[in-house]
Amino acid sequence: MSATLGKLLSELDSGLKVLMVERLSKVASESSHVLNNAGTGHAGNCELNYTPQEADGSIKIDKALEIGADFEVSLQFWSYLVDQGCFPDPTKFINPVWHQSFVWGKDNVAFLRQRFETMRQHQLFEEMEYSEDRAVLNAWMPLVLQGRDPQQRVAATRVKNGSDVDFGFLTRKLVRTLQKSPNFELKMSHTIETLRQRDDGRWHVRMKENATGKSHTINAGFVFIGAGGGALPLLQKSGAPEGEGYGGFPVSGQWLICRKPEIVRQHATKVYGKAPVGAPPMSVPHLDVRVIDGERALLFGPFASVTTKFLKQGSVLDLFTSLKTDNFKPMLAVALDNFDLMRYLMGEAMKSHKDRVEALRAFYPLAREEDWELASAGQRVQIIKSCGAYCGQLAFGTEIVTSKDGTLATLLGASPGASTAVQAMIGVIERCFKPQMKTAAWKHKMKEMIPSYGESLIENAALAQQVRQFTMSTLRLDGKSRGVDKAG
Ligand SMILES: Cc1cc2nc3c(=O)[nH]c(=O)nc-3n(C[C@H](O)[C@H](O)[C@H](O)COP(=O)(O)OP(=O)(O)OC[C@H]3O[C@@H](n4cnc5c(N)ncnc54)[C@H](O)[C@@H]3O)c2cc1C
Repeated sequence: MSATLGKLLSELDSGLKVLMVERLSKVASESSHVLNNAGTGHAGNCELNYTPQEADGSIKIDKALEIGADFEVSLQFWSYLVDQGCFPDPTKFINPVWHQSFVWGKDNVAFLRQRFETMRQHQLFEEMEYSEDRAVLNAWMPLVLQGRDPQQRVAATRVKNGSDVDFGFLTRKLVRTLQKSPNFELKMSHTIETLRQRDDGRWHVRMKENATGKSHTINAGFVFIGAGGGALPLLQKSGAPEGEGYGGFPVSGQWLICRKPEIVRQHATKVYGKAPVGAPPMSVPHLDVRVIDGERALLFGPFASVTTKFLKQGSVLDLFTSLKTDNFKPMLAVALDNFDLMRYLMGEAMKSHKDRVEALRAFYPLAREEDWELASAGQRVQIIKSCGAYCGQLAFGTEIVTSKDGTLATLLGASPGASTAVQAMIGVIERCFKPQMKTAAWKHKMKEMIPSYGESLIENAALAQQVRQFTMSTLRLDGKSRGVDKAG
């Protein structure tokens, strides 16, 4: 998020002085690291939790459309960077992978069919295909079909223009390009400790050098708290009234991972299923091919779990120290109101390797325990918001909290996450750089980076098609560019 914002701002005005502070010794070692997230270029294709069924049986696709359109914005910005020569080889961070949804059971099959019928009418999803034919599904996802009960009703959708993204590589590359600018500075192994607004409106930011414990201060006209799970404590420390009442609910994750080439080569797609009852939306199980450090592997999960840490490399005290008088009641209310979720997380935490492989068998019936090992994924801190005196609401999306004067912005939450970083950061710029955004120079540059800027890709079919043609070929996501008509 911070790297995206830094790059957008430095493109809009190369004279802006940007300082990025990172507590770890490498950038992108928390949520954006390749193994800490699923790498799905979330575009609304396959995530069934984005398309809930209404009480009247209809399927609501607004969220899938919004995320699909936001992802197109990311694709445009990344294409711009490829054209600028920042990313000479886009296949290093983004690759075409079919996005598929897979369900079993009569009701789920009916749901998927209806979802398909609704979604394919929209130009963003018109390429979606649907099948209940086992022979077709076997060709789409052989591991998922082999060994499956022949009596079980199954169905799947397929979107060929889906993608897998190495957000870690992308982040490091963005930072490296930023480092070429004399106006950009990166301070690694420095932890932001406090920030306080001065009387003149500027921010006094104190950071500690991890190795020596020495403190440094800077003052900045604008601060973006893009600290992932570490954002809430910093927002609280800022004293910004806009941050009052917010709490965080941390959820950790784990994957089952298989690196055996004879198995890996049989699965070349992302297959998303339905979340179990009581499970949070980010626990939708999926079986994915991934490229990790140049090697293909299969990942299944995520298995959510209980944690009190806000960052993977954080402290077990994070949750407790985030309790304040202004968020105590909403946090308590969320704990009391979400019994199903707590029970689900406790159940997940207690699972043995055998239990996890059993869960995998719902997707890959012939899975063997010895072929899979456990790897830890990243942390997500879900947002808790006050909604009245004794009311707390648990939100699963992302939210940008900005101070009234536009000098401070914070990104809370982690879903849909990295895929929609560009749109999220454009939101920060629009809210915090209002006078600059009114200038012809910034408007023009924004259009150059994001050709669809200011227009709706949900409503403007011709523009969506034009933009997609450009991004697909620039990022080499169309089969033709890579000489393949096959995922991966
Ligand atoms: C299990 C899982 C699966 C996911 N799958 C997907 C997916 O398939 N697709 C998708 O688009 N998104 C996915 N996400 C979400 C995505 O990973 C995040 O939204 C995204 O990486 C967040 O980026 P960020 O820059 O906000 O946070 P991060 O990448 O966590 O970066 C925050 C940085 O701030 C640093 N920091 C924290 N506190 C301080 C401090 N006090 N001082 C200095 N530095 C500090 C941290 O060290 C870290 O480097 C997933 C997340 C998880 C956990």
